[in-house]
Amino acid sequence: MRFDIVTIFPESLDGLLSVGVIGQARDAGHLRIHLHDLRDFTDDPHRIVDDRPYGGGAGMVMKVEPFVRGIEAIRGDCGPNTRTVLLSSQGRLFQQRDAMRWAALDGLILLCGRYEGIDERIIGFVDDEVSIGDYVLTGGEAAAAVVVEATARMTPGVVGKYDSVESDSFYGEDVRLGAPQYTRPPVFRGLEVPEILQSGDHARIEAYREAEAWKKTARNRPDLIGLNVEGTDTDG
Ligand code: SAH
Repeated sequence: MRFDIVTIFPESLDGLLSVGVIGQARDAGHLRIHLHDLRDFTDDPHRIVDDRPYGGGAGMVMKVEPFVRGIEAIRGDCGPNTRTVLLSSQGRLFQQRDAMRWAALDGLILLCGRYEGIDERIIGFVDDEVSIGDYVLTGGEAAAAVVVEATARMTPGVVGKYDSVESDSFYGEDVRLGAPQYTRPPVFRGLEVPEILQSGDHARIEAYREAEAWKKTARNRPDLIGLNVEGTDTDG
């Protein structure tokens, strides 16, 4: 799968998206990640990407033309099954099911705003407008990294042992958290690893983990219980 990220700070994503599972998958050729400087898609000598807001008010608004030129230039290099996604505090919430669905695409083009956001006319040129949560960031780069991380690890070949994805939080039909995990030592400052996990009895361990996963969901995310994967998004 291929990711193209359009930003005024391409260097900011370099480190995070070069390490660990994502870095290995890039080296192995399972993932391609291209970081594009929005200013390369300007057509004036000063490479200007922002301007004052119509109607007045504080701050600057990002111009629509460089983003649209960027999308058009990048699309020429991408497979037919590519979506363009705007990272936005005003988008619908990005969720695991989006990551699962998008992992089957040829590619994602991710647009990062800054300042007061991007001229609203960008909406006519994107397939999705998504937010990573109900808070406001200074820019879309951290949000783009979240979308790449979540989507890439659902792409075949990226996470070595697919099992470790299936037992994670939010996977599958029952939207619940993953079970708590432990490793050695068996006792740390008087805190013991549950005896069942040390028993070697796989059927009991499975049942225990399932019960613990639901308990943790009830404690930390009661809002998830009773919800199914039919959410608020509308794209097929
Ligand atoms: N004026 C906007 C905030 C702009 S924040 C408002 O009132 O909602 C600047 C940029 O940061 C946005 O264009 C977007 O790309 C990014 N951003 C901020 N919060 C985000 C979030 N929760 N999810 C995804 N992107 C976000």
